[in-house]
Amino acid sequence: MKRLAVLGRPVSHSRSPAMQNAALEAVGLGGEWAYEAIEVSPAELGELVGSLAERGFVGANVTIPHKEAALELADEASAAAREIGAANTLSFADGRIAAENTDAPGLLAALPRAPGSRGALVLGAGGSARAVVWALGGAGAKVDVWNRTPERADQLVRSLAAAAAGSADDGPLLAPVSTEQARTSDYDLIVNCTAVGLEGSGDDPFAALPLEPDRLGPEVALIDLVYGHCDTELVRRARDLGTEVIDGVEVLVRQGAESFRIWTGREAPLDVMREAARRGE
Ligand code: NAP
Repeated sequence: MKRLAVLGRPVSHSRSPAMQNAALEAVGLGGEWAYEAIEVSPAELGELVGSLAERGFVGANVTIPHKEAALELADEASAAAREIGAANTLSFADGRIAAENTDAPGLLAALPRAPGSRGALVLGAGGSARAVVWALGGAGAKVDVWNRTPERADQLVRSLAAAAAGSADDGPLLAPVSTEQARTSDYDLIVNCTAVGLEGSGDDPFAALPLEPDRLGPEVALIDLVYGHCDTELVRRARDLGTEVIDGVEVLVRQGAESFRIWTGREAPLDVMREAARRGE
């Protein structure tokens, strides 16, 4: 049996086991491969990851709070993982650990259309925002970054610009923006990478985030990374305003599809994964 897992804490709510096992089944690998969830503390992560290959694991997804630590544990890492500073996908082969970041290509795959000249607004400066800004900036988009704690947006932009320094082109077009700038600018794409909208938070997205209803509409696409058992308030309100909306489950499916391809070498059955991931709603 080839084993796969998602490593996190907490992890019992993860939809990855259902989604990945459905995908393995759909491509005929169900009898040979299996995917499970493993709850692990930061203190135990290194030892656990070191033992996985000998226990039959060929790969693992890594989620909160271990993505940075996972990169450190790897023997080799993709340029994306290194520049983002985090890995969400590990592969074990020939006694070595390889790290990749599929959050970035997953986000690009989920985009309904490429951002145009009005660029993108990324809300948040945590781990997921870093992967999203790296992905959009690397794809050539102009990206404004807003965060509740503005210093973290400044820091994110500075460190990603430094990571891209020395690349062949002029580097990504990234800028931190104030609440006022974000509220009064027009964008092609807005990506919510904050925790605003998490179930039970009761957040009003238009109060907590620099968003004006009259700046949403059919000209804007919105991606909300947050997901729960039903649509977030932001997703509901944006849809009502005519905005094209991609929700957090779709983003989860797209990063999972990239991980599936890395481990199995097969194209991921997206519809099967979507259905399994949504069944948890
Ligand atoms: P993180 O590193 O903890 O960052 C949290 C971010 O949310 C920070 O920018 C923080 O701002 C901001 N924030 C928290 N509460 C806020 C509030 N009340 N008002 C305004 N901003 C607030 O988390 P993360 O890993 O980036 O994840 C962010 C969200 O994306 C989570 O909800 C997570 O579940 C979701 N996510 C989804 C996927 C997916 O596949 N769909 C993947 C990754 C993450 P400060 O800096 O000011 O604290």
